[in-house]
Amino acid sequence: MIIENLTQSTSASPEKWLQHDALTGLLNRRGFILMLEEKIQEASKLEKHFALVWIDCDRFKLINDSFGQYFGDDVLKAVAEQLLTCLTNKNEAAARMSGDEFIVLLDEVQTLQALDERIQQIRDIFQQPWSIQGIEFYLTASFGVVQYPKDGVRVEELITKAETANKQAKSLGRNHLSFFHYYTEPAKHNPVIFERELRYALEREQLLIYYQPQVNIRSGQVYGAEALLRWNHPQYGLIPPVEFVPLLDETRMIINVGEWLLEQACFQQVKWLKQGLPSITVSVNISPTQFISGTLLSAVKRAIHKSGIDPRFLKLEITENMIIKNMIETRAILEKLKRMGIGVSIDDFGTGYSSLSYLKKFPIDTIKLDRSFIKDITIDIHDQAIVKAIIDMGHTLELSLVAEGAETAQQIFSLVDAGCVNVQGFYFSPPVNATQFSINYQCWRRLAENLSEKTFSYYSTKR
Ligand code: C2E
Ligand code: MG
Ligand code: MG
Repeated sequence: MIIENLTQSTSASPEKWLQHDALTGLLNRRGFILMLEEKIQEASKLEKHFALVWIDCDRFKLINDSFGQYFGDDVLKAVAEQLLTCLTNKNEAAARMSGDEFIVLLDEVQTLQALDERIQQIRDIFQQPWSIQGIEFYLTASFGVVQYPKDGVRVEELITKAETANKQAKSLGRNHLSFFHYYTEPAKHNPVIFERELRYALEREQLLIYYQPQVNIRSGQVYGAEALLRWNHPQYGLIPPVEFVPLLDETRMIINVGEWLLEQACFQQVKWLKQGLPSITVSVNISPTQFISGTLLSAVKRAIHKSGIDPRFLKLEITENMIIKNMIETRAILEKLKRMGIGVSIDDFGTGYSSLSYLKKFPIDTIKLDRSFIKDITIDIHDQAIVKAIIDMGHTLELSLVAEGAETAQQIFSLVDAGCVNVQGFYFSPPVNATQFSINYQCWRRLAENLSEKTFSYYSTKR
């Protein structure tokens, strides 16, 4: 079902217009759904397989912001044209689902190898620099894949799962691909197999550490990196931590994994320093089981000793609930960490038990404002008030503050307005691997400096 380019066709019927996207000439969402209904009927009769690939251009907003909407439109047209070149017969189709999101139906994919090759062909489009209106630039994309009939047999089911797989790919950072997998639907998954596979993950070197930059908007510095776990599953690709860290914790496997991660993160901090980056504080998440395991302090000492990291550049992240559950024990552990020169942050602040008295009594350095407050900070006056209150309290108690989940410049303006200048979020970058972190470092610095100028000039014009 390769479609003609409707932007060049003046004789298309009104019905056809309704099913096509005016900008690119591809099918629109409605057209794609109608086509998919037919496709499923045909495939079920002939027992055929096919796959959908959801494609979302990474940081497309940056292109619009930098070069303007018309330029952005030309880029979308070019992406559409390239996608059409990946279709091999009239039973395949490409559609524009919304702004910068596309979907491709691949028909000739009877084996996994054939599917891999076809997907690679689509990914290759995004490996080359684009040249639009004489400007050359790179554009990466995230890919989510579902397979018919393995993952679903109904239209909405397939489309929703393709989008879910894409979101999963996006959550892993830019330029990733994720097959829809049942870990996103735990009920369908066999927990016994999941646990067995997880037990081997560390020794089979399937666990990876990604790092997300933390940026100070006032100074324009990239001062920190949060270490975040990923499971590179041989069959399902990268699995995000929410889907396996709770099980690691429950089974106490987190103690081994956590020690390994702590050590790796410390080594990485020293490695970046040797590569010429300034001292970056690495933050490591500590799970409840690991925190009270009795081995945390010795693990921290070992990691520091082996790696040679300056302990001032190591931070541990714990949650409010962990503190509340074991007040006496927690305090003793935190005091020992403090004496070793290690910082402690309260993660996801505001979502837990929130007994504020511990903030004063316990040796804590940093509060990480939870993403849920930042999401609507530009429009929701309640969130604005909560954020402002937390920030004011943090300042009074002489704690540093970091806002998690800042995705837009507007959110950052609101945070600075409320008094918080440290941010971590997709505006700068999703978590990336250590090599990518050092490659992107200068780019984040420039972005931070640029935003710093804009933010503080915005500020001065407001006053
Ligand atoms: P967290 O510690 O609060 O980490 C921040 C999470 O927010 C990360 O998700 C990060 O990718 C995500 N995030 C950051 N900025 C944005 C943004 O602008 N928009 C959106 N939508 N998301 C953003 P991730 O990596 O999936 O980690 C999820 C959680 O898993 C972590 O939350 C942490 O609680 C846990 N986790 C990750 N790695 C480890 C680990 O090594 N040990 C333990 N115990 N838990 C871990
Ligand atoms: Mg954290
Ligand atoms: Mg958090």
